[in-house]
Amino acid sequence: MTEARIETAPYLKPLPNVSELNSPFWEGLRSREFRIPRCAECHHYNWLPYPACRSCLSERLVWTPVSGRATVWSFTAVYRGPGAFGLDVPYIICLGQLEEQPRRCNVLANLRGVNPDDVTVGMPIEIGYVDIPSEDITMYEWVPRR
Ligand SMILES: [Zn+2]
Repeated sequence: MTEARIETAPYLKPLPNVSELNSPFWEGLRSREFRIPRCAECHHYNWLPYPACRSCLSERLVWTPVSGRATVWSFTAVYRGPGAFGLDVPYIICLGQLEEQPRRCNVLANLRGVNPDDVTVGMPIEIGYVDIPSEDITMYEWVPRR
């Protein structure tokens, strides 16, 4: 089950620069789809988005919905955050390894809904969606997989 929440407080953190190249990603979030560029030649997923496949250099990349399911690959807990992030401490920055293969694909995001002392490498997580109505955008975060 996809988790989604609405951020009602004034949003004071950086916003993405939505462009023609990355708009399929942001439109996907709005419709509860997590999309990753997938190479049409070697079928590897490429994150972060880049003009060419990191495995074979093909420029035939296709925005492809993925499950959003992952496991914690690495993480750190932040106890003193800069600016508006200071309101969220303690918070966890997490590198999640998507279950999609063949090549490992890690996605960086905050992990919400778990105490920093309870996070472990290999823990099941999934993408959660965060609607920010005041900015007309949907962001993403990791949440524990239920
Ligand atoms: Zn490729």
